[in-house]
Amino acid sequence: MKELYLIKIGEISLKKGNKKMFERALKNNIKAKFRGYQNRVTIKSGRYYLETEDCPHEIVSQKLSSTFGIKGFYKTHFCGKSLEEVQQKALLIARANLNDGRGVKFKVETRRIDKSLELNSYGYSSEVGAFLLESCPELSVDVRNPDWIVHVELRERGYVYGYGENGAGGLPVGTAGKGVLLLSGGIDSPVAGYLMGKRGVKLSAVYFHTPPYTSDDALTKVKDLAAGLSPWSGGIKLKIVNFTEVQMLINKSVPPEATTLHTRASMMAIAQKIAEEEGAGALITGEALSQVASQTMESLRFTGSVVDLPVLRPCIGMDKEEIILISRRLNLFETSTRPFDDCCTLFSPVHPLIRPDFKTITEQHREIPELETALTKAFQEKEEISL
Ligand code: ATP
Ligand code: MG
Repeated sequence: MKELYLIKIGEISLKKGNKKMFERALKNNIKAKFRGYQNRVTIKSGRYYLETEDCPHEIVSQKLSSTFGIKGFYKTHFCGKSLEEVQQKALLIARANLNDGRGVKFKVETRRIDKSLELNSYGYSSEVGAFLLESCPELSVDVRNPDWIVHVELRERGYVYGYGENGAGGLPVGTAGKGVLLLSGGIDSPVAGYLMGKRGVKLSAVYFHTPPYTSDDALTKVKDLAAGLSPWSGGIKLKIVNFTEVQMLINKSVPPEATTLHTRASMMAIAQKIAEEEGAGALITGEALSQVASQTMESLRFTGSVVDLPVLRPCIGMDKEEIILISRRLNLFETSTRPFDDCCTLFSPVHPLIRPDFKTITEQHREIPELETALTKAFQEKEEISL
């Protein structure tokens, strides 16, 4: 059966000169999500409509609610513009709402774009309301505090919709360019990826694996996290870099309290090489100010100084609790808290440097013998999977 969904957009509606670019991106992103299903996406007067014949509602719901740029969506009935046709469709909505226990207080709201119609908006609303009361005596009208609203829109044809579902908000993925997410197995970096996806960044991810010090289970966990992020980004590529040689080189070349900082900086440097290869314009990390020693201002200055791409850190001002809340909402928390160590916890010094002196640590970094060779080798030997 052919189903129609009205899709309402959020921030795109505020765009001016380049609105068309955002509209086109959202249309393409929706179409890409429904690849494999019969679908048609149209934009009419700034409104998006998705028509599909063979995609079950639960799947439509999953796909649209994870597509950035959408504020909300409504399963919509279309019909002619006569009062009788509109009333019949409104009745379908009322019966479904009663069936689903959504309450008995309702109101009807009409937008009459087609001014040639005899009845005005108020006329439609009151006639449709009266018809619903007559057909379902348990209903009552409450214009101030309704349990649900029947929306009637009279455009080139009639559209009647009721219950809406929330979209993900944000801007269409890809409109802000591409970013390389440094994805560890922790809680913060997947949330950071989600937050930048929400601002329109297409994600590509990199994980630094340190076998045998980090296990295959740790790698599986990162793959699962990338798979969990994938719907938000319209697919995601995960690059896996074997970091063992670089890590060993750092461990033997610098004092223990400085290892984490050199490790971070080396990850950034490889991530930038990946960004260049991918045509990405930024790196993304899950860092939050002062959460750990490597995330103080002084530490961030150093670790960010080895790259010239902007480092986006959307969690920078967030408490752990706030990050966890998002992680749970995304259903990633259980995966992120599976108990496998990452290299950072394994190799982290007991007393890490908290406020490194920029000049000293930079010089120390330059003096690590053969570091550039090890970084290039790790970069060249990476593996890639698509999720
Ligand atoms: P997370 O929960 O994201 O692991 P964290 O609070 O544990 O963050 P750190 O371990 O200090 O913080 O890592 C800081 C950031 O560095 C991470 O958010 C992530 O972006 C990146 N990172 C750390 N380890 C790795 C790794 N093994 N592979 C890829 N990125 C990493
Ligand atoms: Mg971590």
